[in-house]
Amino acid sequence: MNIRFIGTGGAFDIDYGNSSAIITCQGKNILIDCGHTVFPKLMQLNLVQTIDYILITHLHDDHAGSLSTLIFYLYFFFPQRKVPVIAPQKFQQELINFLNFSQKNTLQFTTFEDLPDFIQPIDTFNRHYPDMQTYGYVFSESNKHIVYSGDINDVHFLVEEVKKLNLDGEIIIFHDVTFNELAKISHAYYKDLELYLHEYPIWGYHCNPKMKPKDCKIPLVVENPNLLF
Ligand SMILES: [Zn+2]
Repeated sequence: MNIRFIGTGGAFDIDYGNSSAIITCQGKNILIDCGHTVFPKLMQLNLVQTIDYILITHLHDDHAGSLSTLIFYLYFFFPQRKVPVIAPQKFQQELINFLNFSQKNTLQFTTFEDLPDFIQPIDTFNRHYPDMQTYGYVFSESNKHIVYSGDINDVHFLVEEVKKLNLDGEIIIFHDVTFNELAKISHAYYKDLELYLHEYPIWGYHCNPKMKPKDCKIPLVVENPNLLF
């Protein structure tokens, strides 16, 4: 299992790109999130044709803003590659409605499938933005598990949901992080994340590393070249 990030910034941190990653799990390359900076970056890196599945955490523009373009591109340039959007059943219609704004009939251009059994959703509805459907996801292969938080303001909730899964083996958490106390209504405040550093390896993303306070103990994805494309 492997994770490499396409971008590590938040919505406004354009120097770092919108947070997005390709997770290789059970032999499949899963693109997680496709914000407005992601399609151009995938093209520059020649990664579009490596993607097997597309997975979205929520429908803010910095997570889904170039999803429609990616689907069109795959349809027109790689028609032989079937690259489904995978999603929890409950989220599929919302994705279809969203894509229909630009594609009119998105089912003509892509397919939607339930999550494969090696990806478990964590339903984080209302924990990032009022009344918004959001998800974290857990990817499992052998005895290794990658937890990808998506955007969530409640670290405690996410950790408790992970515990409920009774995962055996090694767990590593990739979590959105903010250094601004006012932003903790939407994202994980670094001091709240630090409370779990003794239990799990945690890597922060969805932030501007230049804003990282000196006392912050959360290592950032952007600081580790092995985690970046
Ligand atoms: Zn968001």
